[in-house]
Amino acid sequence: MSKHLFALFGNPVSHSKSPLMHNLAFKGLKIDGCYNRYLLEEGEKLREKFFALGLKGINITVPHKEHAYQACDILDPFAQKVGAVNTIVEREGKLYGYNTDAPGFLKAINEFKGAKKVLFLGAGGTAQSTSMILKEAGYEVTILNRSAGRLERYREEGFETYTFENFQPQHFDLVINMTSAGLEDDSLPCPKEILDQVIPSAKACIDVIYGKETPFLKLAKSHNKPTKDGADMLLYQGIIAFEHFTGHTYSFEEILPHMRRAFLL
Ligand code: NDP
Repeated sequence: MSKHLFALFGNPVSHSKSPLMHNLAFKGLKIDGCYNRYLLEEGEKLREKFFALGLKGINITVPHKEHAYQACDILDPFAQKVGAVNTIVEREGKLYGYNTDAPGFLKAINEFKGAKKVLFLGAGGTAQSTSMILKEAGYEVTILNRSAGRLERYREEGFETYTFENFQPQHFDLVINMTSAGLEDDSLPCPKEILDQVIPSAKACIDVIYGKETPFLKLAKSHNKPTKDGADMLLYQGIIAFEHFTGHTYSFEEILPHMRRAFLL
């Protein structure tokens, strides 16, 4: 059997840990696979490029998760519901699409036992899939966003939504940055006055950004709150994607120690 090829499609892709994570798992589990990165500039060409490169599976990152959704022949029910795909596997010429960001995030916050009320800062694509899975898992998610436009869809799904202007401070167990604020700048995801009202009564503050301490997590630490960045989310979404890539031949626990090495190197 020939070597199976995998890749990350996105723009940019140069910063990603995914190739290292997946290649360590292939090596550790003695699978004849290789994972590369591919800078995809035109999302509409995702399907064409997938087949032209002779790939078995891909992960998809910003800004192509909706194009990935469009490119699939068969969608997993959760990916269908959220309209965003970050993992595609080819089987007998057909493309199967999954969303592993959301279950990865759900698993990452599992350590905060007893947390129920959650405040999401941000309403982008990541917030959308994760809010749905948290709701299904019994969390009460409130969405706070800079502008009103993206909130419509959340309201239709039954979420409580606010902009900075009409926000009503209340108690939340977890306050979570779901924006890219702080990724490449020093901005907070919302005005400091709001954070100073909600952080003191929270059990913990979480950021989906990884690899740096964001201004949001710095502020949470100044309030003496436990914090968690997005590294486990990245690791867990990768493990769940790897389960799909390998047809569930390996369990989460078998893949974990190999992929985790990417965060130690
Ligand atoms: P975007 O970066 O497109 O952010 C969209 C949302 O963030 C919108 O609600 C937008 O508000 C808000 N926003 C953006 N910048 C600011 C700012 N400076 N201040 C306040 N609000 C802001 O969202 P994505 O969903 O694509 O990604 C969100 C984050 O999740 C990224 O940082 C990404 O790196 C991270 N991520 C992490 C993963 C992991 O595995 N750890 C996996 C996937 C994503 P508005 O509507 O007003 O424009």
